[in-house]
Amino acid sequence: MNTQKFTDLNSLISLSAIHHRMVVYALNEQEELVHVDSVNRGKLCKCRCLSCGEALVARQGDLKSHSFAHESGAECLYAVETMLQWLAKELIVAHGFFITPELNIYESLSGPLRRIEAQENLDSSKVSINSARIEKRVTRTRPDLVLQANGRELLIEITISKKIDAKRLASIEQCQLSAVEINLSKTHLATVADFERILFTDNGYKQWLFNVKEVKIRNILRARNLEQLSLQDHEYKQKLIEEEALEAAKNRQQRETAEKNKAEENAHISDMLTAVLSQRPGLVLDRDDRKIYYRLKDGGLWFLWGQNDRLYLIAKNGNEQVIKVLRKIGLNYDEINLCYLALQSQYLSITHQLGFSS
Ligand SMILES: [Zn+2]
Repeated sequence: MNTQKFTDLNSLISLSAIHHRMVVYALNEQEELVHVDSVNRGKLCKCRCLSCGEALVARQGDLKSHSFAHESGAECLYAVETMLQWLAKELIVAHGFFITPELNIYESLSGPLRRIEAQENLDSSKVSINSARIEKRVTRTRPDLVLQANGRELLIEITISKKIDAKRLASIEQCQLSAVEINLSKTHLATVADFERILFTDNGYKQWLFNVKEVKIRNILRARNLEQLSLQDHEYKQKLIEEEALEAAKNRQQRETAEKNKAEENAHISDMLTAVLSQRPGLVLDRDDRKIYYRLKDGGLWFLWGQNDRLYLIAKNGNEQVIKVLRKIGLNYDEINLCYLALQSQYLSITHQLGFSS
């Protein structure tokens, strides 16, 4: 780097004009980056546009801030961005390093039980730069700033008013070239020193557009998430099996309880039948007053208070008179309990129709 360049890169040089899309740097005849104040006035500057290569004139009036203009009067689409790329190139080479922004890589997917997440953070780092060049790498329309760092290449994208367009972003991804965007839309560069602060510190104006390491890390995070998903699937299936087993156990218990109750009821009826058979004909009341037995003289019928307020009517030997009455009341023979089943409320009606009195 010579003294000429050093003067042109002075930290105190104003950059305010770039926010009005005015260019203050150009290439001189020796292909050097020169500031508008260090060249001859007008056409005598013998400078060319950094972006399109057209001849420029140096406007060094007393009222307006100094800037370069295209001799043809043409508007140059990327003139300011390209100028900043050239300036960044010179500053980065002069400092010998660049500060990359941090990168947060996050991957998630939904599992049957809960959301699965994984993330990795790549810290901002100071990268030693061996060399830098401007070339049309990504698209033919505008040049790129490519930094050479330990055998790897890093592309620097500078945006001021507009965001980087999707097509250019897609090209960067396709090139698999690590790229950092420096977005100046939310800041004001008063001097070269402000630009240096953005280039050489960790700040919010830089972000990764594409990072070669990111792809690898993202794949690791995805694989980790898939592993977690597989574990969670297993856990979920296990849980389902446990729930089914619990449900089956509950059903089995209910069934067993029902069977036990039925068995107890049957045993109770059997006990009562034994008791009735041992009695002489006539009315029998048991001690706790819960059972009433009628035994006809011909052994035809017993009434038994059963469980759950049900009345078991046992018509023995097919006593026609009794069966007629029971049918008249609308009772059906219960094949399981081998008796006629009535509700307690029907008791009085039955005894009345059979001509009994209790
Ligand atoms: Zn131009």
